[in-house]
Amino acid sequence: MIVLEFKLAGAAHQYAALDEAIRTTQFVRNKCARKWMDERGVTPSDLNRYCAILAKEYDFAGKLNSQARQAAAERAAILRFYKNCRAKTPGKKGYPRFQKDGRSVEYKQTGWKLDESRTRLTLTDGFTAGTFKLRGTRDLLDYALDQIKRVRIVKRADGYYGQFCLDAERRVSVEASGKAVGIDLGVSHFYTDSAGATVENPRHPQRSEKALKRLQRRVSAKVKGSNNRAKARGRLGRKHLKVRRQRRDFAVKTARALVMSHDVIAYEDLRVSNMVQNRRLAKSISDAGWRSFVTWLDYLAHVYGKVVVAVPPAYTSQDCSGCGARVKKTLSERTHVCPHCTTVLDRDHNAARNILAMGLRALAETTAGHAERNAWGQSALYLAGETSSGMVAG
Ligand SMILES: [Zn+2]
Repeated sequence: MIVLEFKLAGAAHQYAALDEAIRTTQFVRNKCARKWMDERGVTPSDLNRYCAILAKEYDFAGKLNSQARQAAAERAAILRFYKNCRAKTPGKKGYPRFQKDGRSVEYKQTGWKLDESRTRLTLTDGFTAGTFKLRGTRDLLDYALDQIKRVRIVKRADGYYGQFCLDAERRVSVEASGKAVGIDLGVSHFYTDSAGATVENPRHPQRSEKALKRLQRRVSAKVKGSNNRAKARGRLGRKHLKVRRQRRDFAVKTARALVMSHDVIAYEDLRVSNMVQNRRLAKSISDAGWRSFVTWLDYLAHVYGKVVVAVPPAYTSQDCSGCGARVKKTLSERTHVCPHCTTVLDRDHNAARNILAMGLRALAETTAGHAERNAWGQSALYLAGETSSGMVAG
């Protein structure tokens, strides 16, 4: 699944119509969640029927395209809850919650149409939002119309966006480089590879974080409900958006460079939720955007036919990459000095070499030669498009 995103250009009354559609989506979604909580044994098809009842009962619900109503019901997350319960997934089951700040409405294959040049989107349901010009660098003409499985309208601080979810296996063949690399995602550098090269952390987040804090303080200082507060909130929202885009751009650029120049990439499978327990590391984790990077690494490797292996984190920084002996060191010891084979390496460089060796071993063990996708594989990629600008193929 690829997501192509465009900014929607239209008039104020058209945006107001989009707002109405978004509010209605939230209404339907919450009604479905309520029904599910109040009655026992509600099935997805019950909810579908309930959507039709809502449409008769409430004028505005009737205006929303029927498939979009269904999509709203699905978004009540009830399906996910069922699935997690059945699969006995440990931890949170994703119990349906009420949504208060809905920002999107999702159409399936009806309720919208594109003009011939595919540069204008018309919404054809009862809200009569009309025709929007699509602003963006991507070309929808590259794809067949029936590849567009969903059209999602997303409201952000700086305007309205149309996301086109395309059912396309994006595959690009590139010449094999014959190179394998291990990378150690770190704190002092964004990553260190098994050849000892480093990629620096992006600079923006630290600077942006300060700006965000300042803008947040300004919002808090204004009187609730005032115009000035609304303006300050707008500024804060736009800044957040900018930070997200910078993070994504860095993740895409870095992951693409790595994928283009290697055939096999091994990294340590850092479970971010486990690592956040270490408070000192927590900030760097969110700053560096490892998760975003790793997601893009997986996705781009798939696109370019490369292999990515996530190796379990186990003594990668303790073991000697020269002889395999365990050389205990604290977090502050930045150099690996092996008393057994006299290997001396930068701590992260040593770890990256271990990660590469573990990755290659894991690959040799899987007969198919395909690495198992990690938890942030493609399905996550698709879902992320719903909540942020984070995961739009570019
Ligand atoms: Zn050694």
